[in-house]
Amino acid sequence: MISLKHVSKWYGHFQVLADCSTEVKKGEVVVVCGPSGSGKSTLIKTVNGLEPIQQGEIVVDGIAVNDKRTNLAKLRSKVGMVFQHFELFPHLSIVENLTLAQVKVLGRDKTAAKAKGLKLLERVGLSAHADKFPGQLSGGQQQRVAIARALCMDPVAMLFDEPTSALDPEMINEVLDVMVELAKEGMTMMVVTHEMGFARKVANRVIFMDEGKIVEDRNKDDFFDNPQSDRARDFLAKII
Ligand code: ATP
Ligand code: MG
Repeated sequence: MISLKHVSKWYGHFQVLADCSTEVKKGEVVVVCGPSGSGKSTLIKTVNGLEPIQQGEIVVDGIAVNDKRTNLAKLRSKVGMVFQHFELFPHLSIVENLTLAQVKVLGRDKTAAKAKGLKLLERVGLSAHADKFPGQLSGGQQQRVAIARALCMDPVAMLFDEPTSALDPEMINEVLDVMVELAKEGMTMMVVTHEMGFARKVANRVIFMDEGKIVEDRNKDDFFDNPQSDRARDFLAKII
């Protein structure tokens, strides 16, 4: 489903990704962790073409992301992305947030798009809030809307970049619960997170990054029970 082969990227002279290779199969959940600045956000942004790469190859659902002929808008509609900050449109109601891209990007008619939006809003437990504006919702609720909005596009995979790290502690679980459900339903997911409880519960694999390199890419239990590198051991000791 998602394949990265020998991916390298530089910002000017600074190498932010160094020869990163990994594969995420359909239905797999891969958690990406590592110290601040290790390249986690950059790595997952390369997957939907938000960050260009200088070397290597990335293929998502048969689409070569870095081929100049690839339609990036089409690719991005297939790969949902949820960021740390919810990035809803503040001037649009929740239901309008959920329908806009369906109409503009997928060409769905407004009634069908609204029905889909409301269905997904129900799924994240927020039916009562359809006509509110983002500013009237809590952070956790806004993040659940952001997830629902991505799901409205019928994505083949979902990318998450620290979706709970800007939330107050009491709201973290309501967002993680939605993600756990998604994982159980078989969604292919790459998740940058420091929520190791989530990783233990639903990840198939854990990727540990350090200084732009994928240092470990292993089965979840192997990673937690027996990290191979000193850096991963130090990281786990600090975080758990
Ligand atoms: P964090 O845990 O803090 O979110 P991260 O692992 O997601 O960190 P990235 O955001 O991918 O790390 O950044 C990796 C490195 O690339 C950092 O050293 C960062 O300063 C650098 N970097 C990121 N974006 C840019 C940019 N647009 N221009 C130059 N350097 C950048
Ligand atoms: Mg980051």
